[in-house]
Amino acid sequence: MKVYKFGGASVRNAEGVRNLRKIIDDERNLFIVVSAMGKTTNALERVFGGLQRGDRAASLATIGELREYHAAIVGELWHGPKRLDRVEALFGELETIANETVYRPEDAELWYDAIVSYGELVSTTIISEYLNYAGVTNAWIDMRRCLLTEQRHKDAGVDIEASAPRLRAALEARPAPVYVGQGFIGGAPDGTTTTLGREGSDYSAAVAAHILDAESMSVWKDVDGVLNADPKIFPDAEQIAELNYLDTIELAYSGAQIIHPKTIKPLQNKNIPLYVRPFGDKRKPGTVIRGMSAPVQVPILILKKDQVLLTIRSRDFSFVLEEKFATIFALLERFRIKTNLIHNSAVNLSLCIDRTWHIDEAVVALRDAGFDVMKAEQMELLTIRGYTEALWNKYARGPRIFVCQSTQATVRIVRKA
Ligand code: ASP
Ligand code: MG
Repeated sequence: MKVYKFGGASVRNAEGVRNLRKIIDDERNLFIVVSAMGKTTNALERVFGGLQRGDRAASLATIGELREYHAAIVGELWHGPKRLDRVEALFGELETIANETVYRPEDAELWYDAIVSYGELVSTTIISEYLNYAGVTNAWIDMRRCLLTEQRHKDAGVDIEASAPRLRAALEARPAPVYVGQGFIGGAPDGTTTTLGREGSDYSAAVAAHILDAESMSVWKDVDGVLNADPKIFPDAEQIAELNYLDTIELAYSGAQIIHPKTIKPLQNKNIPLYVRPFGDKRKPGTVIRGMSAPVQVPILILKKDQVLLTIRSRDFSFVLEEKFATIFALLERFRIKTNLIHNSAVNLSLCIDRTWHIDEAVVALRDAGFDVMKAEQMELLTIRGYTEALWNKYARGPRIFVCQSTQATVRIVRKA
């Protein structure tokens, strides 16, 4: 078995879907994991935003646009008007949620997942039907029933052990040369739909590869492979031919948008190689990620945007802040805040965190717990691994730096964006 993952950019239009069919070619024993088409997930976040604000009309208008966007792709794939009943039914369900949900802020994440999961349900339904039409016999797999996640919404982890028998049983129930499953979504123990965190389809594919003992996993992307930097920000970016799991996790954690940070562990556990390959040209080699690759030789630059810097100080100027670390981190965990960099002095603890919904609540709770908290917004985190003075001067140096941390090989700075 091989696992192929196709991201939203690859299947953003009919041409992309046809190309996916070409890539599958006459491959058998293949499990494909697909994301939502194009920017659908962002649009669904706006549908949720409407629900949150009590603006149902805005939600329904966005659903209407999504209906049209997908209908246009279907029309082009079938060369003329074509109605897919299953797709219509999914949009109907989504409209019902937008119309009838009695929204409560405590359930924000629950409804977020209920809505945002439709992107993958719709994309895989279209692609599965199209593949059948184009001569690729396949079975549509409902990942909500196969990947059992923890009871947590919006950023759920998968219980791989418990999911294994479910996924295997789903394939055995409908033997087919090709299986089509949704990325990004799963089901919680209480039966509600969960999502695995933005860009989580890679993780879904890795979990499937692990469970199915795949010989390899390939992520088909709109780039030639993994680069050592984002070429939009760092013009001298170059492609890396081979990476090991460890370097890849470090890169993903620092914010490199190669693959979702949670992807590597399920693969590493079974030593499954991961290929990052260009969607546009199947003949190009791409990048291979596996356990035995040598550490990367080129410097790597990663810029993580949308960061907030919290500086926390104990009000009694306690010089033993360490004692309070446990309190602080437990509190941050309660508000689901992810820390990307930690810096401490005798009385201050600075944390660079992702901007999320709950920061202000966390700040209030920290203040209630006896801390002074300063919040600096619009920050970014730059990581340079294997830095040189020239790279420092070119990309890092400047007046906007709030925190700078360096080890022998790596420098990380938090600065005003
Ligand atoms: N569609 C989801 C997102 O855009 C998951 C993914 O693309 O991996 O975040
Ligand atoms: Mg996506």
